Amino acid sequence: TRVINLKNRPVGLPDTKDFEEVQENVPELLEGQILLQSIYISVDPYLRGRMSGTKEPIFKLNAPVSSKLIARIIQSRHKNFKTGDIVSHYLDWKEYQVSDGTGLKKIDQDGAPLSANLGVLGITGLSAYLPLTTFGKPQPGETIVISAAAGAVGSIAGQIGKILGCKVVGIVGSDQKVTLLKEKFGFDAAINYQTEKDLGAAIAAHCPSGVDIYFDNVGGGISDAVFANINTYGRVVVCGSISNYNDTEIALSPSILPIVVYKFLSIHGFLIADFAAQFDQALIQLSTWLQQGKLKYTETILEGFDKLPKAFIGLFNGLNEGKMIVKV
Ligand code: NDP
Repeated sequence: TRVINLKNRPVGLPDTKDFEEVQENVPELLEGQILLQSIYISVDPYLRGRMSGTKEPIFKLNAPVSSKLIARIIQSRHKNFKTGDIVSHYLDWKEYQVSDGTGLKKIDQDGAPLSANLGVLGITGLSAYLPLTTFGKPQPGETIVISAAAGAVGSIAGQIGKILGCKVVGIVGSDQKVTLLKEKFGFDAAINYQTEKDLGAAIAAHCPSGVDIYFDNVGGGISDAVFANINTYGRVVVCGSISNYNDTEIALSPSILPIVVYKFLSIHGFLIADFAAQFDQALIQLSTWLQQGKLKYTETILEGFDKLPKAFIGLFNGLNEGKMIVKV
């Protein structure tokens, strides 16, 4: 089978040379094991920290990268799984691999398209819905600003803001994404941070009543510009900070603390795994909105197992609209 290993710990923006494709033999199945064929593999920003060794579990060098994937069972010697079942779990970047079934979740093949289980009906959809509602507490008529708004999490968070009756403004890196947000996802406005000379002024212009909730995927200067427009009792949901993931040093800047005090701000970080007890219920809500046509999604699917490094690196260049996925 083809396998993609981590070759070097990336420094700065990852490079395709940091990865290496190798061949490995697939062992014969033992009793209690199954053989999986990868169908869709998710690439995600959090993998960056595991590659550089700053986030646990750290990827080993010259060993496979792993992430959430969807696979078909093509052989089974396990009593709970049969050939043809489709499953998802955190698994290695391999075309074929053997599993003892631990952690595998069966996927309903009559439901949404399989790839949706990596996006809108997977971790990224949950990361939009649960923290936005739990920490953001959107009220009808409030204004929400979302960074990386055309991405997997951002595009869903914005639509949920609209469903809940808010005004939603997205910040994105291209004019094409501005159009996508307004025309497909129903955002009220969108701002291209690449071409906007004064981002703070642009946010002020699009949010005449100020910003009540900031759903942050990006950090850095974009977040500074949003904080400059935040309202008293504003809520900031810190989902991620992708603009810093390739930095060699973490910038810890307490310069916003005075604003936190005099504006009575609530700032919440989270790791979505902490919401695991609410996943099943949340997925019912997300599926219902999808079926009702209230929630839409898009995906950027690169075809070919060898595209995994390119797809992963593309997250840091804005190559994706919606969830970035590799189809093996
Ligand atoms: P996305 O689909 O949003 O892809 C990343 C996007 O980020 C790119 O398309 C790009 O869009 C934007 N981006 C990349 N680099 C920069 C930069 N330097 N400045 C501004 N924008 C940038 O990824 P996800 O939806 O999977 O993840 C979004 C965020 O949510 C990440 O920070 C991730 O780590 C976090 N996350 C956190 C979870 C948690 O449990 N806390 C769970 C899941 C995700 P553009 O063209 O607009 O620049």
